[in-house]
Amino acid sequence: MSSAANSPTALAESLLGGNRRALSRLISWAENGHPGFPAVLEAIYERVGRAWRVGVTGPPGAGKSTLVNELALQLRRAHDLQVGILAVDPSSPFTGGALLGDRIRMEELTADPGVYVRSMASRKSHGGMARAGVDACDVMDAFGIERILIETVGVGQAEYDVMGACDTVVVVMCPGAGDGIQAMKAGILEVADVLVVNKSDLPGADRLYADLVEAAHVRAARPMAAGHHGASARSASPEPEPDASGAWQVPVIQASAGRGEGIAGEASVLEAVANHRAYLEATGLDNARRQKRFAQVRRIVDEELDSRVWSRSDLEDRVLAALKAGSTSYDIARDLVVELIDGLVAQTPQEETA
Ligand code: GDP
Repeated sequence: MSSAANSPTALAESLLGGNRRALSRLISWAENGHPGFPAVLEAIYERVGRAWRVGVTGPPGAGKSTLVNELALQLRRAHDLQVGILAVDPSSPFTGGALLGDRIRMEELTADPGVYVRSMASRKSHGGMARAGVDACDVMDAFGIERILIETVGVGQAEYDVMGACDTVVVVMCPGAGDGIQAMKAGILEVADVLVVNKSDLPGADRLYADLVEAAHVRAARPMAAGHHGASARSASPEPEPDASGAWQVPVIQASAGRGEGIAGEASVLEAVANHRAYLEATGLDNARRQKRFAQVRRIVDEELDSRVWSRSDLEDRVLAALKAGSTSYDIARDLVVELIDGLVAQTPQEETA
């Protein structure tokens, strides 16, 4: 490709025209924080927002990859939708065993031009994985992919951020992990729109199902308690529909991804995702998405401020000197924040290299 063909606008145009090479290249741009990427986003912005983004997270070994493969196969076979799979891996450049765990089924997917599979390594994206993941989804979305399945290992803040940018978040658990409920207490439940008990063919699945139904009810009871009429946590069944307060009731789905069970059809993962979508669309999807975009803006501001502040070469020396003089970390930090904010408010462009 000539350099003109590699310009942000040319690549954006190719992408919108359905060029898969442009798609791959622009996801790399997103991943690497390419300086031309903001211009790309601007060029594709109007075509972003049509794809339904489904985040799939949960502890390692729960069956996320298997489930994602099955979901993709169903979306292709039964619904003929363009599907994108984005595996966000916190460490490895290629999720290898994880993403490609079920090679035979994976082959069917990778040979299908209606499926685009991509993995993304966080270590490559300089700590901005969440941003890179969202940007990559925007690129797929503009390309015309209708369903994006984003798989992460639910551990760090960046993964939660990625999930925060999804329309529907599916949290996958499996029996035998022992610490399943603990993992949820650590915050996974907070981001779940749909809970899945995978490996329902294994012993202990019923128990986990009961625990999750209970946990989902506890969560559902919280916004109600904060609300007006304090409708108590009725032991309603986990129907995938709004409760009396209008809040989304997180359904618990029993599945066996390894056997292709609970993926499509009645009381399945895909049905729950569709219900959640219908719920969001009925209650104001644009508003929900704006809220999520707000989180994105906030994160970008945080990153930008962080890098601008700490790129000032004088700060480290000053902080070290103040510490040597006996000031506490808190005092130094507070003074610094006041000084920096004053600098912002005064809007006097400061030399970065004071
Ligand atoms: P991930 O780490 O969450 O992505 O989990 P994987 O999808 O790689 O699955 C972990 C292991 O669980 C693999 O050996 C799968 O074959 C197996 N597995 C996935 N789904 C099921 C299931 O429904 N039942 C059983 N028994 N095993 C499953």
